Amino acid sequence: MNVVGRFAPTPSGRMHLGNAFAYLLAWLSARSAGGEIVLRMEDLDTLRCTEAHAESIREDLRWLGLVWDRETPPQRLRTAAYEEALEHLREKANVFPCWCTRGSLNLINAPHASDGHPIHPAACRLRSPAERAAMTGTPAWRLEAPDLTVSFTDGVYGEVSENLKEECGDFVLRRADGVFVYQLAVVVDDGEAGVNQVVRGCDLLSSTPRQIYLCRLLGLPVPAYWHVPMLTDGEGRKLSKRDADMDLGLLRQRYRPEELIGDLASRCGLIDKREAVSASELAQEFRWEKLEKRDIVMA
Ligand SMILES: [Zn+2]
Repeated sequence: MNVVGRFAPTPSGRMHLGNAFAYLLAWLSARSAGGEIVLRMEDLDTLRCTEAHAESIREDLRWLGLVWDRETPPQRLRTAAYEEALEHLREKANVFPCWCTRGSLNLINAPHASDGHPIHPAACRLRSPAERAAMTGTPAWRLEAPDLTVSFTDGVYGEVSENLKEECGDFVLRRADGVFVYQLAVVVDDGEAGVNQVVRGCDLLSSTPRQIYLCRLLGLPVPAYWHVPMLTDGEGRKLSKRDADMDLGLLRQRYRPEELIGDLASRCGLIDKREAVSASELAQEFRWEKLEKRDIVMA
């Protein structure tokens, strides 16, 4: 089977070194298997995402030598496909209107899901048609989480299992403002592009069982997953967009691409000593087993 990996950046700012690390691994995994890479802009947040940021991300990827084969339409242009998927889900499962707000969910004394959110209360799902008719305002649309344990083997973290009802709860597909959520969009887009390898940061590990469940309901093949370690500072704190010195704009003024890639590759175990190396050179020796399964300390 031809490997199809992907880069799925959110164009809300300059690329961050943590994103570059995940893209490097996605690219190495696909290229070392003779596969291709698809680029997709995840710009569901149309207020924060801009074409200027998207272009700076493309330019940073080219600078790193992480060339992609095709770019698929950005998520802001994909509403019709997500609407079609939502209709499909209504036929296969219980999709119900929800008027809960973040504030009301935080007030209830509910157990918390694996991603830290309060589990959505069953009382909302069990409203009668008359009670729903009496509600005011536009609802969000949620999918009932069944009492089903979804298991998969992550290429880095091994066996992962989650009971959707107990550990995730009913989840939003379309928000009250009409915006589709990442969970649905990512599954529909990867399915349409034929993506069969998903390599991304381990902060998304807890959302994977939900996405696998959506794939199954929509009749889409489930991709293979590799959730890669996060970059942290010396105190174990995850580096983020707030750490301006990890922004590619600044890093490009101080380093050549081969120096940056060699530094990342040596810190995560792909090469033995710190030396300049290009992405293409790394691809010749790449094996997932070399990657160290712990946070990558940048201090
Ligand atoms: Zn609700």
